Amino acid sequence: MIITLEPDALESHAASVVRLAERYPGVTARRHEFRGASTSIIEIHLIGPTRSVPTEPFESLAGVRKVVRVSAKYRLIGRSDPGAETPGFEYNGVRFDERRVHVFAGLCAVDTREHVEQMMAAVQAAGLTTTRMGVYKPRTSPYDFQGLGKACLPWIFELAGKYGIRVIAMEVTDARHVDEIRRALDDAGNPTGVMLQIGTRNTQNFELLKHVGQQQSFPVLFKRGMGITLEESLNACEYVASEGNQNIVFCLRGVKTHLGEPHRNLVDFAHVPVLRRQTRLPICIDPSHSVGRMDVGPDGLPDIFHAVGQGIIAGASMVLVDFHPHPEEALCDGPQALRLPDLPRLLRYVTVVRRAFEELTAPAP
Ligand code: PEP
Ligand code: MN
Repeated sequence: MIITLEPDALESHAASVVRLAERYPGVTARRHEFRGASTSIIEIHLIGPTRSVPTEPFESLAGVRKVVRVSAKYRLIGRSDPGAETPGFEYNGVRFDERRVHVFAGLCAVDTREHVEQMMAAVQAAGLTTTRMGVYKPRTSPYDFQGLGKACLPWIFELAGKYGIRVIAMEVTDARHVDEIRRALDDAGNPTGVMLQIGTRNTQNFELLKHVGQQQSFPVLFKRGMGITLEESLNACEYVASEGNQNIVFCLRGVKTHLGEPHRNLVDFAHVPVLRRQTRLPICIDPSHSVGRMDVGPDGLPDIFHAVGQGIIAGASMVLVDFHPHPEEALCDGPQALRLPDLPRLLRYVTVVRRAFEELTAPAP
């Protein structure tokens, strides 16, 4: 059961809800606060045998807005109030919610300092402060390039500072990587920030999920599992929130099936509205790993652009996309990398489609 308080509720209102809840045997009450751009909402979650707990005594308490019984297991990331604003969060001066779109354009895998510098210069020139930089790469074959690992972190962070990058999406595949990133950022004087990416191969690595959930320094970009149901991915994502870290963006990246051919995966961005309805998280789309190739249509636009359009028109508020200064030299996923001159074109595409989304969803005058 979730008891949502009024936006202007006092701490004493929350305390009386908790006191009442704890009168029911075996029931524990946990207080959660969701800070949105304009309002902040307190919820009290009742855990345990709540089936026999009546809703009315809570509904009549001062400061209570509503009481709902939740059946979804992902109660923290789940949306209990259909009309409420997606609260989102702020990290290193960047706000993640549904009011704007962030494009994280960057390297799938960091290879050379020169490429990182060219990439970040292009990101800055395009007016962005967000990028992606893969350092720990989970590869299908043990003989493939595994990423440069912690050795490249000092110069990545130094260059990020130089080019005004505020947030880098960076995948971690082991709890150790989080400590390595934290140490390298501290050593560099924290010139930038990192969003910890959980890749599709680790969607159900529950120990890793608990680890990134137990720390609050870094937000988490959680990718759906490529071969499990959306419901299973949502339950896995809840692990992060249930350990205490609510700063999560949920990312769609396609699902594995030959039916998506010739694309690498079947693009699943029709799930954007489903996720916006079922969760309170900002939603990201990764068109690069979904489409997986740089083919261009008769209109001159890459399939990747049109996949981005599908996500943005449905309300996605973040895009994770692979670029490379020289895709033919990339050590990982070169065939799906866009070239640097494509970045301003992609941003224009995003702006036009986002404008259409805003027009289509504006309240009737
Ligand atoms: C990535 O974004 O670099 C990546 C490996 O993605 P995914 O986990 O979606 O395959
Ligand atoms: Mn990749």
